[in-house]
Amino acid sequence: MSSATEPDYEVIVIGAGVAGIYQIKRLADLGVKATVLDTAGDLGGTWYWNRYPGARFDSESYTYGYSFSKELLNEWHWKERYSGQPENLRYLNYVSDKFDLRKYMQFNCTVEATHFDEEFNLWRLKIADGRELTCRFVIMTLGLLSTPTLPRIEGMDSFKGRSFHTYYWPHEPVELAGKKVAVIGTGATGIQVIGEIADKVGELTVFQRRPNWCAPLSNGPISDEEMADIRSRYDEIFSTCARTPGGFEHEPDRRGFNEVSREERLALWDGLYDQPGFGIWLRNFREIFTDEEANAELSEYMAERVRQRVDDPLIAEKLIPRDHGFGVQRVPLETKYLEAYNRDNVHLVDISETPLERVTESGLRTTERDYDFDIIIYATGFDAITGAFDHIDIQGVDGEKLRDRWRDGPSTFLGMFIHGFPNMFMPSGPQSGSASTNYPRGIETGVNWCTDLLEHMWDQGYIRADATLAAEERWTAHVTKMYSTMLMRKAKSWFTGYNSNVEGHEHGKVRYFVYNGGSPKYINNINVVAAEGYEGLDLTSGSGGAFRASSVNADNVSG
Ligand code: NAP
Repeated sequence: MSSATEPDYEVIVIGAGVAGIYQIKRLADLGVKATVLDTAGDLGGTWYWNRYPGARFDSESYTYGYSFSKELLNEWHWKERYSGQPENLRYLNYVSDKFDLRKYMQFNCTVEATHFDEEFNLWRLKIADGRELTCRFVIMTLGLLSTPTLPRIEGMDSFKGRSFHTYYWPHEPVELAGKKVAVIGTGATGIQVIGEIADKVGELTVFQRRPNWCAPLSNGPISDEEMADIRSRYDEIFSTCARTPGGFEHEPDRRGFNEVSREERLALWDGLYDQPGFGIWLRNFREIFTDEEANAELSEYMAERVRQRVDDPLIAEKLIPRDHGFGVQRVPLETKYLEAYNRDNVHLVDISETPLERVTESGLRTTERDYDFDIIIYATGFDAITGAFDHIDIQGVDGEKLRDRWRDGPSTFLGMFIHGFPNMFMPSGPQSGSASTNYPRGIETGVNWCTDLLEHMWDQGYIRADATLAAEERWTAHVTKMYSTMLMRKAKSWFTGYNSNVEGHEHGKVRYFVYNGGSPKYINNINVVAAEGYEGLDLTSGSGGAFRASSVNADNVSG
């Protein structure tokens, strides 16, 4: 039970996904009285929810796993280069059980509101089950893509068959054999699900509004020998990830696009296209992200690859994006996606020509005709990055609502703090190093940094940390400026805050969601801030309930 000066917990972490699990591990190691709250029925975040067929990593599995424990690294055998959802969820459970973290977690626990109490310097959380919990620090590990969105069309409740957003794919097996199935959406999710189910359903009809560029995943098993080799190289692998802009093993080609001949460029792309993973995107020339002409040449190369793989030239042309170049949106990686359209049972409906009008009792209606389905799959994406924050009533100093502050897009200090919302930490927040890089590499950096700051505060007797307005403005200007050179700013995607299904996000006005400077620059920036005594944060001393590392014992920790 809380008292005015003694909160229920020193730290409450919201979200038991990849970031929340590591955050509670760090806090548990310090003996901090902390808990993790999550809406879901169990841990895993993204990998708890997204159970749709074909859901898997686009990061190399061994660069996605946690790096903090040698023992864990030596124990876990990644079975595939790009591991699938069931295995990924098993991994997160294994980690949590190995380090006995489950006891700190509370599930089916939706945080509806969190308000800062200025008088006592603590956060008051309102839980959907009626409880109020208090804490000194609240750590937001809400997930970047954890608020799914559905089309705003009429009749969605009238459909008599089964329908679900891919994020809410049922836990029990869904019978697909012989069924007439619709997929709406051709982003990374749609492309995975279509490639996986095309040969398992009766008829598959894909409703595509805009095509997406995609590239082969080239997945494969990892043998015992290969895993042994990976284990022996883990230090090297993680140090490469820390050195590359994307936090992957893929390093950009440092030659200038125009320094090499067209023949050499084509030779590079021929080699990269069939390499596993993001090679064709991240091992490419750096100019493809910034230079229209370089990007156009690569895009034409990728268009030709589509034409080679899709039998029907009319369908091939429909699958080639015209409104954005290759790589300026996150590139979906696919397995037999393009070949799916060569099957007799797979049909493509271009809803940019004949838009969806409504959902009917038996299926979907476009402006052209009615379609009957047994199952409708909405692969329609997320209210990305800030959506999960908007769904909680977060109020800072003077009752200011975060939703109002971020109405036109986020502004932060280091992607981790918001001026006027003291003691609220976001290890993987908007404008942090996580969103645009190999996520777990970014979150480990963010969690370690935030935990170091907490230790510093506890050591020094600080009870409150708030970003200064000037620091927040500086950081947001830095993030904004980096967009100015990137072609991605012109693309309508979740990287820039576009979502036709969310009020205010449908017009494509750029929101500065991600840090585009790459991992090394981000890590350097936050390390400099720490080395300079947390310059940019107002740290305030005080008494009353401040946790002291020296007073820690195991009994402090509870779930
Ligand atoms: P997304 O990239 O935002 O794609 C959503 C798709 O739904 C788009 O094709 C969009 O069309 C379509 N759509 C949305 N609303 C629609 C409407 N009202 N009517 C018709 N079509 C509509 O979302 P996502 O595919 O879920 O992927 C999001 C991100 O999740 C990815 O970029 C990636 O970072 C991550 N992800 C990763 C993996 C992995 O391999 N690890 C797998 C899946 C997802 P428009 O393009 O016209 O808007």
